Amino acid sequence: MTQEYSAEIEDGRDTALIQRAYRNLLKCMPAPLNKEDKHNIRAAFELAAKAHQQQRRKSGEPYILHPIEVARICVEEIGLGPTAVVCALLHDVVEDTEVTLKEIHAQFGERVALIVDGLTKLDSLHDSESPQAENLTKVLRTMLSDVRVVLIKMADRLHNLRTIKSMAHHKQIKIAAETSSIYAPLAHRLGLYKIKTEFQDICLKISHPDEYHDIAEKLAQTKRAREQYIETFKQPLQKALEEQLGSGVRIIGRPKSIYSIWNKIRTKQVDFEDIYDLFAIRIILDVPPEREKMICWQAYAVVTDFYTPIPERLKDWITNPKANGYTSLHTSVMGPQGRYVEVQIRTERMDEIAERGFAAHWKYKGIRRMRNDTDVFDNWLNQVRDTLENVGAANAVEVLINLQSDLFSDEVHVFTPKGEMRILPEGATALDFAFSIHSDVGCTCRAVRVNNRIERISYVLKNGDQIQVITDKNQRPAEDWLNFVISSKARNRIRSALKEEKRQLAALGREILERKLNNMHKCPVEENADMLAKWYGYHNRLEFFSAIALEQVDMSGLKSFRPDGQRLVEIEGEKAPIPHENEPKPADGNLPAKPLKHQVNKADVFINGEPGTYYAYSFATCCNPVQGDPIFAYVTANKEGVKIHRTTCPNAPFLLANYEYRVMKAEWGATVKADFIAAILVTGIDAGPGVIQQITDRISGLGINIRSFSITGEGGYFEGRISLVVANTHQLNQAILALKSFKFVANVSRME
Ligand code: MN
Repeated sequence: MTQEYSAEIEDGRDTALIQRAYRNLLKCMPAPLNKEDKHNIRAAFELAAKAHQQQRRKSGEPYILHPIEVARICVEEIGLGPTAVVCALLHDVVEDTEVTLKEIHAQFGERVALIVDGLTKLDSLHDSESPQAENLTKVLRTMLSDVRVVLIKMADRLHNLRTIKSMAHHKQIKIAAETSSIYAPLAHRLGLYKIKTEFQDICLKISHPDEYHDIAEKLAQTKRAREQYIETFKQPLQKALEEQLGSGVRIIGRPKSIYSIWNKIRTKQVDFEDIYDLFAIRIILDVPPEREKMICWQAYAVVTDFYTPIPERLKDWITNPKANGYTSLHTSVMGPQGRYVEVQIRTERMDEIAERGFAAHWKYKGIRRMRNDTDVFDNWLNQVRDTLENVGAANAVEVLINLQSDLFSDEVHVFTPKGEMRILPEGATALDFAFSIHSDVGCTCRAVRVNNRIERISYVLKNGDQIQVITDKNQRPAEDWLNFVISSKARNRIRSALKEEKRQLAALGREILERKLNNMHKCPVEENADMLAKWYGYHNRLEFFSAIALEQVDMSGLKSFRPDGQRLVEIEGEKAPIPHENEPKPADGNLPAKPLKHQVNKADVFINGEPGTYYAYSFATCCNPVQGDPIFAYVTANKEGVKIHRTTCPNAPFLLANYEYRVMKAEWGATVKADFIAAILVTGIDAGPGVIQQITDRISGLGINIRSFSITGEGGYFEGRISLVVANTHQLNQAILALKSFKFVANVSRME
């Protein structure tokens, strides 16, 4: 009885909660809805609410709150309209409930059905090498017919991240890795800056919690001082701008995201203190579209009347917008107290596009067309379409990796001999340029003329270069071309050309082998090829056949092959080593290592909640986990079984994002005396010959063994790499702290 009663109360509470969320969604729709839209949204809500009725999210909330919130994000944070709201409400219905796509088509029509289909994950997840990648390729394909698919997907991901706390930790790191390698760059490319920043911050919080909280705390501590400074900086500007431009002016301090600070600290090797006083402000002007450019430059003139500009920091993204549609005028000036301040000048329209990307871009589309105002989004979509078409049925991981390189990069602007502008990713070479013209031009590219000087095809493009391609019909793509092209189009074309060549070569090699086997042993190629390939040390028969055609294989060794027992005998002399596939390389190769077996009692790692001994697990050598480190288990593709990685392993984001289904949860068991290898990096001032002795003494004094120690010094500085044998992270931290206490030591860190 009591149970039923409380269930009823809960039901009542849920209903109120759901109704409130739905009303709130309707309230945030900007324009008054027409009758049809109103009806469709209501119908979608009712259908979804009914279909998800029995489901709850991990947090315990009724499931329907998720699609409602996704719809709200679509409207308020991305700027989408009623159709997107209908689709967002329905986005999980086909995947998770009884409702079929057919029913959705019947009730809401073709367009909604198409979008919802694009949002529905692939059915046969387990058949695929990399479901995440294939899932994304599907999204991208559908995006080409309706870009709202990918925008709703972004909203879905954003809400899942915002509520990620209720997920298990190992799932959190999976989702974070996938988000930072796929969704964040995609958001960047779609111009969704705000969402990209939030993605990155949440991911950082999950993958590097200590560093995240450290920066967040320091930001909070310095908040007041920074705000005061910005106030002083902008006071004279506000008045002068309003007077001289006669238009509305907003000046806002622009807080840097925790991720961007973290990234700077890491890539530039500086401390928080060195960057926290890099101030940034944004001046936003309310002007009609036709006067935008002129007014922005006038504002620039006003700013530089008050503060001295740094000329090389001036960037005019108004005349030449970025490939993702971003327009703005950037500069840096010297502010009060001799501090640099970054200044962005833009209009309200530019600001909205910069913050909300694609959807906002649509809103302004057609308002005006400036010279040079090619549709950047259309360009990008064409690029994606091109990539997808050219890889055909090839594997999705490759598509993804290639797209990622385009997604991440900034760009370089160059010109054809006729003065046409081409935008390529930063770091692109003359060969990328040739492929961007046409794939035949790329494949036969022999040299280039850059600003009238002959250069090699590996020449790295600079902004403003004018380039003419010199072709030669006898030229063929070569393997090493892959080392210096970076655009996905060029990579894909070169790969498929090479593959075709390899296939022809392999066919020839196969024929040669067939003849030999026939003459020597009278046995068929088919049954023996794999065994022979392995024996000779090749990955697969294709490579083996190619090597035969290239005369790289010593065929005389075939004599010792005995066809009768299906078993091969050893060739005299050294057997070629069989290279391992998929094994991440150690991040640092210079540690001379005495062999040391992990002596962990095998039950001490739990994999998926079961004793690790059920799995043939071992510790990954790329990150050398130590008892106490956050870890996960990864099922390798070869026969090496399960590997334990640290969650901060440099290979982790790639593994998690692309082989998510091979990842399992791993935890440390009870403490047992065990030996782990951990590498640390010590830098400092070279205080003379006693340094090594002092360091080794201090560590040995803690009862910790040193496995190897190498030290290099230059100009009074030294850098030491110490490989330790420790029992757990506690002991490791002890060693790090002990070394930090030396006066001559500047920094001690664990090597990833
Ligand atoms: Mn969802």
